[in-house]
Amino acid sequence: MRRDDPGDPDHTDFLAADHGGFRTRIRDLLDSLVSPNAEDWENERRISRSGWRSLGESGLLSLAHAGPCFLHSAIFLEELGGLGFGGIRASVAVHAYMASSYLHLFGTEEQRQRYLPGARQGRLIAALALTESTAGSDLRDLVTRAHPTEHGYRVTGEKLYVANGSQADFLITLATSRPPGDGNGLSAASLLVVDADADGVSRHPEPMLGWHSADMCRVRLTDVDVGADRLVGRPDRALLHLVQALDFERLVAGMLAVGGVRHCLALLRAFVREHRVKGVPLGTHQAVRHRIAELESSYELVRHYGYRAAWLQANGRLDTHTASVLKLRATELAVTAAQTCLQFHGARGYAADAVAARLYRDAMAGPIAGGASELLRDLVYETK
Ligand SMILES: Cc1cc2nc3c(=O)[nH]c(=O)nc-3n(C[C@H](O)[C@H](O)[C@H](O)COP(=O)(O)OP(=O)(O)OC[C@H]3O[C@@H](n4cnc5c(N)ncnc54)[C@H](O)[C@@H]3O)c2cc1C
Repeated sequence: MRRDDPGDPDHTDFLAADHGGFRTRIRDLLDSLVSPNAEDWENERRISRSGWRSLGESGLLSLAHAGPCFLHSAIFLEELGGLGFGGIRASVAVHAYMASSYLHLFGTEEQRQRYLPGARQGRLIAALALTESTAGSDLRDLVTRAHPTEHGYRVTGEKLYVANGSQADFLITLATSRPPGDGNGLSAASLLVVDADADGVSRHPEPMLGWHSADMCRVRLTDVDVGADRLVGRPDRALLHLVQALDFERLVAGMLAVGGVRHCLALLRAFVREHRVKGVPLGTHQAVRHRIAELESSYELVRHYGYRAAWLQANGRLDTHTASVLKLRATELAVTAAQTCLQFHGARGYAADAVAARLYRDAMAGPIAGGASELLRDLVYETK
């Protein structure tokens, strides 16, 4: 089916139906398991181990990656984003969706059995370690080396900006069999699942401006022996797998951002109702009302587009164009919404501990992480 095929679904039905109270159950679970702990996790810069386990026990880490039940995941991701903590949502999404998706999509049965039950229960934490100092938007300059050995690979390199870095039990990583300086590293790259307690793996905190609870780390791999049975997908053909997995990652990031925009707008509306300027509530001023109306209307469009993308994923039809449009628009709208929210809060929004300030810090990562907006614009242009 083409993207503009008239047989495309009417996802408004899906939004209205609310999937039999599923959204309410998700909200209740997040309210009881995450919200009371969120500030602590922000301060500790990670979700606690007991927090992971309770998320696992509640079933929130076991939702579908594909098929009709992916629509449940779309609701979960939107609600997770709607909590207003960018670091928590990134941490959970990297664990339960982005990193795990490589095993779901390309892993062997033995790899799935070894890692996924523990990940679903919140006993094993997953991280995705792709980025390097010279390899971000463009992975061709990948230098982490997977040197072939008798039993598999010896891996050496350094991965940056790894969410869940210090707590991860296993890392999905990318390494090339090309020696340094021998051309396009990505053209001979493989995906490997590496046990984080293996000899030669060291983790170093890498605090970021926002996403405080995302446990951001630099991960150094020094002569790490990785067995051939830890190869995920085809040897030297990671590029093929990345195309599919990165589309999924963009869909996930887009749905989280949709929820983030909703949270931001709710905070903004509540504030302009209460705060008075020139003797009237701030929201009485037309300039303020129109600004919020612009954001609300963009939010509604992006949210519908998000569910359309989720429907495509549920039906095995997600494409690069749709995933890129969603991630681009949703994360950039989240920045605009957070900036507006902070602006109308005045100086109180700019205070270091203000909620508006946190939303702003967190939103700024969206158009960078998981594909910078400029790269997505290139993809949107090229895939039409
Ligand atoms: C909060 C956060 C969490 C992250 N978590 C993870 C993680 O868990 N695992 C992981 O592997 N990585 C992670 N990343 C890394 C992330 O995926 C990369 O930041 C992203 O791929 C962009 O790469 P880069 O930062 O190296 O920017 P570069 O590729 O060096 O680009 C720098 C800037 O150049 C611009 N640019 C890029 N491409 C183009 C273009 N084609 N045309 C014009 N301008 C362009 C963009 O503005 C971009 O921000 C995280 C990043 C952040 C900020």
